[in-house]
This record gives sequence, C-alpha cells and structure tokens, in this order.
Amino acid sequence: MKSCFPIPILALVLAASAQAQDKAPVIRGTYAHPKAFWDTGARLDDYGVNAVFIHGSGIDEATFTRAKEEGCKVFAEFPTLNGKYGKYVENHPDAHPIDDSGNPAPPATWFLGVCPTHAGFRQFRMDDLRALLERHDLDGIWMDYTHWHAQFEDPYPVLLKTCFNDSCLAAFEEWAGLEVQGETVPEKAKWIFANAAKKWEDWRVHVIVDWAKEIRSIVKEIRPNALVGIYHTAWKDEDLSGVRRRCLGLDFDALAPYVDVFSPMIYHGRSGKSPEYVKEFVDYLGAKPWVKTAPGAYPQIWPIVQAHDDPRVSPEEFEQVLNYGLGGKSTGVMMFTLGSVAQDAGKMEVMKRVYLQHAR
Ligand SMILES: [Zn+2]
Repeated sequence: MKSCFPIPILALVLAASAQAQDKAPVIRGTYAHPKAFWDTGARLDDYGVNAVFIHGSGIDEATFTRAKEEGCKVFAEFPTLNGKYGKYVENHPDAHPIDDSGNPAPPATWFLGVCPTHAGFRQFRMDDLRALLERHDLDGIWMDYTHWHAQFEDPYPVLLKTCFNDSCLAAFEEWAGLEVQGETVPEKAKWIFANAAKKWEDWRVHVIVDWAKEIRSIVKEIRPNALVGIYHTAWKDEDLSGVRRRCLGLDFDALAPYVDVFSPMIYHGRSGKSPEYVKEFVDYLGAKPWVKTAPGAYPQIWPIVQAHDDPRVSPEEFEQVLNYGLGGKSTGVMMFTLGSVAQDAGKMEVMKRVYLQHAR
C-alpha cells in the first residue's frame, strides 16, 4: 500500500478543512451597555452573544473585563460629528453649523450636528479617540453620527443644507478651485446652488471621507488589529432623490476603502417599514462589488436591527429582523438595544435561540 488515504478521500478531507477555514464565527452582537442584561442574572455567552457594542464613554474596566470573560469582542461606539457631545457646540458657538440663510441651523429634534471643518472640534474628537483607544484593548471603533447636520432617525426626517460659515466656504473654494461669488451668506449659497451644486455635494462627501480616513489611521496606529465600523442610515443611493449623499454627505463607495464594517441602522418599525425591509436593504448593500464575506476580508456587513418598542416590536417580529439581518452577505448582526431585549422575556428567548443556532 502506497498510502493510507486513497487520493479522493484525502481531497475530500482537504476540501472540508478549507471550507471550515472559510467560515469565521458570525458576529452575534448586542448594542448598548449590557448592565440591564446582566441585571437579569444572565451571562452573554449563555445567550450565544460574542460581541458587544457599547458607547465609548460607557466602557469601564469592570465592563470590559466581564464582557471579555463572557467570550465577547468589545467594540466602542464613537460619536464622530455630534455637536452635543461634550456640550461642544454649546461651549463653542462658532462650531454651530450655519445654514444657507446665514443663521445657525436649527437643531434636528434630539440631534445637533456640527461644522465638520471646525479645526478645534476635529482636534477635540481625535484626542478623544486616542484616549479611548489607549484606555482599552478594543476590538474596534464604530463611528456614529458620521454625516452633515440632519436627522434621519426620525419618522419625519429633517434635512438641511449646511454649512456656510467661513471655514467651510474657504475649504470648499480651495478644494474645488473656484471663487464663490456674492457678499452675504445667502448670496454665496445661492451662487453655489446655481453654479456648483454637484461640486459642493462632492466636496461634502470628501469632508466626511476625510474624517473616516483620519479616524482609521489613528485606530490602526494605536490598535492595529482593531476594526473600523460605521453606523449609517439604511437609505439606498436612489432614495429620496439621492438625499443620503446629497444632504448627509454619505457615499458608501467613497467610504469603503476606509471602513471595515458597514452597520446600516435598519430600524424597520421606526421608519414605517415591514420586517422584510431588513432583508431588502441587506441584499441591496450586499450587491456592492466591494462587500466581502471571507474571514479577515473587509468591508463586511453587520446590520443593527430594531428590538426597541417604538413602535412595539413583538418577539416574533424581532426574530424575523434578527434572521433577516444575518441573511444575504451579512456576517453579523446586533440589535438596538440590548436593554429593550433584557426587559422582554420573549425577546430574551428569541435572542438566545437565534444566536445559539448561529453559534454552532
Ligand atoms: Zn462649517
């Protein structure tokens, strides 16, 4: 006998092991501090959870250690362009985004953006990011509020055209290589909309991408293995006449080189859609040519789905959106929020069942 293994069997064994290597554990995530969940007496690993996403400022040593002990990766949410963070705009009124009338833009329900070209604000955020990364050996940073001032998380979105302060006008002129005509802000804004609207929109995308680029370089410098994710609105390119790119300055293709994981916020109930919309959007994003599914290859898709009762999401509906969120080319999922799951025995049961199924 020349070999213990006839060649076809050996080939089968090799193929099977290659297949096993191709499959990384699915991210079975939760969003929000796990306190409410832990208060029920539960452990994350008993529920199949292997990743927690927590606001950066909510991660202390005890939280980090316990999550790790229960087998989880720890990701920090990082509010990028939230003007309310640290009361920055309140304390620095010159960072308030200026609208096309030349006045401070009205806050959008509970959210207030910021002038993204304000040098002091940028320094403030990057310093904060460095401190957060140095504090804990995080598995990744999830950028939140990475867009121009607007409110898309409400059933009635607030969409505004900003920012027309001196630093934004100067930065746009330099980037576009043109001189904006007019004396007052309303005149200048009007000139831009009439003569260089597309350029202005492209520049606004460039500003957001530039933030992502710097955030990525800081993350990789301090924690080379940490991932950079982004929470973003689940609007398609063509929705509302392309308003995601035109108003928020969010261009998925332009961001893709700097983002490891896209986490669309597919809050079906809040946006008046059916659970099936989760599947629809995951399939939509999964069709982008740069989306990857193999372990270690990025960008990947890990959506965040709605568990929060606003309006009521039944356990059955939660199970549907969790499964849709794990479908298509998605390699992970999480829910908004873990607290909403913890206070509903039915949703706890669903999370456990779905996550343990995917843990096998
Ligand atoms: Zn500005």
